[in-house]
Amino acid sequence: MDFGFGLSPSSAVTLDRVDLSLYRKLEELNPDIRTCIACGSCSATCMAAEYSGMSVRKLILNIQRGADVSKMLSCCMLCGKCTMVCPRGINTRKVILDCCRYFK
Ligand code: SF4
Ligand code: SF4
Repeated sequence: MDFGFGLSPSSAVTLDRVDLSLYRKLEELNPDIRTCIACGSCSATCMAAEYSGMSVRKLILNIQRGADVSKMLSCCMLCGKCTMVCPRGINTRKVILDCCRYFK
């Protein structure tokens, strides 16, 4: 029967069930990642964002949720512009590099 709408899976994140191994590793290597306020300055300045959907803000949020970020990582050119504008002084370029090393 068509009700005119469909049910989609819940987008709720159950932290007890997600794999936080990458986030824990990044936290160890870059303790300042915990200070990210998801302001989006890094994404706003990213040259790859418009064409590829690359976003450090989303990358960090997805890692905190245990989501797969390997596709997003491949869009980064490692230019370092995001690091220069981060108000929290997070070395986002190093965070990206550490993520890439984790997936090797
Ligand atoms: S600019 Fe820094 S504080 Fe803002 S979202 Fe990006 S990493 Fe987080
Ligand atoms: S280092 Fe990567 S994420 Fe940061 S601004 Fe450059 S292309 Fe974008």
